[in-house]
Amino acid sequence: MNVYDSTRMIDSLSENDYEETKIIEQADLLILNTCHIREKATEKVFSEIGRMKELRNKRRENGQDMIIAVAGCVAQAQGEEIMARAPVVSLVFGPQSYHKLPELVKRAANERVIDTDFPIEDKFNFLPKAKNSNIIARGLTAFLTVQEGCDKFCSFCVVPYTRGSEVSRPLEQVILEAKSLVAGGVMEITLLGQNVNAYHGENSKGKAANLAELLYALAKIDGLERLRYTTSHPNDMDQTLINAHKDLSTLMPYLHLPVQSGSNKILKAMNRSHTAEKYLEIIERLREARPDIALSGDFIVGFPNESDKDFEDTLKIIRQSKYSSAYSFKYSPRPGTPGALMDNQIPEKIRSERLTILQKLLNEQQTKFNLATIGRTVPVLFDKKGRSAGQIGGRSPYLQPIHLSGSEDLIGTIENVKIISGDKNSLTGELVKVE
Ligand code: SAH
Ligand code: SF4
Repeated sequence: MNVYDSTRMIDSLSENDYEETKIIEQADLLILNTCHIREKATEKVFSEIGRMKELRNKRRENGQDMIIAVAGCVAQAQGEEIMARAPVVSLVFGPQSYHKLPELVKRAANERVIDTDFPIEDKFNFLPKAKNSNIIARGLTAFLTVQEGCDKFCSFCVVPYTRGSEVSRPLEQVILEAKSLVAGGVMEITLLGQNVNAYHGENSKGKAANLAELLYALAKIDGLERLRYTTSHPNDMDQTLINAHKDLSTLMPYLHLPVQSGSNKILKAMNRSHTAEKYLEIIERLREARPDIALSGDFIVGFPNESDKDFEDTLKIIRQSKYSSAYSFKYSPRPGTPGALMDNQIPEKIRSERLTILQKLLNEQQTKFNLATIGRTVPVLFDKKGRSAGQIGGRSPYLQPIHLSGSEDLIGTIENVKIISGDKNSLTGELVKVE
């Protein structure tokens, strides 16, 4: 979502005649977009600000200047602290203020500005459309935020505090943005939301549309070849959404559905409000609807009170679910969340050991999933040059990276590829010639 937000910031600043540069030393304005989800990401912010200060000082030596801004969820949560600790920062703004950037940047040229309110107005009504030239430069795949914020308050998570409560964009607004992306050459769109499947945007009849309704509507857009969505919560995985995986060929057979833990005791303490059994039942129904669906997940090890038995239960649910890929994290106590105040915090050493064991299992599953594709023919959307000369790269429907020898003319097409070999991280193959 931060990648998407950064593109919208650039779109918004084009009103001030700013444009994106790849050469950091040339920047008149540097925005650090930050993540607060785990301590590690947050810690990086102050060291990055140090690097930015050096860049600004170099420019000052040459008689130029640089405005330094901090955006995103660390800005939201620790704005005052950033202002106090880092005088080099002129502007701090939270995730709900991006539409105000043109004005904020103008002010920051003369004074230090902080804007971390949750405004009443919805920023999406004010953000300008991306320029066609920007859409083209960003490539064939794009993100599109349809839902933001979270009302679920899992006891480990800062998102409800940094992004605010759940808001869904109206269906028509999403369709218009998708159409303009497709007009700019985008072939694949990934819908984004902290709880994307809790989407309930208003439709043209003034009723709340769910994510399935949005997907059916988007699938009608000519030229939009592939749809994905992330991240979903098990409790919002309703049958209409599961059916969409059966009905819509545009909807890719891949789902990121985090469970976090396989222990019902820990799930309860995490306030996830579902059990391991419920999760398994959902993926069973998903696989009934779309037997080849690739499943991905998120896991937290070492949540307070997690015993060896609880950890075993997490390994068990991984074995039962069979993931194509997954993300896993050591529990990181976050300020202001109930988890941080719980007794029986798990020592760092045990968290690390558990993470190693869990990642070994997940890596085995990922390798197994990739190797099972060998010998199959899959449609690949080629979207970039490959790592070495004469190579091109793309993705399978299951989000696997594919590399092969082929002409750059194929970039921007979907071709059938027979998979020849692969490993944990990627696959190679050859084009299937149509006789
Ligand atoms: N809304 C999504 C997740 C968003 S946060 C969901 O409910 O599944 C992305 C992931 O970061 C989470 O799934 C979780 O695995 C991880 N995460 C969030 N807070 C964390 C914390 N305090 N410590 C470790 N991992 C955390
Ligand atoms: Fe965080 Fe996701 Fe839980 Fe919301 S549902 S609190 S975003 S982990």
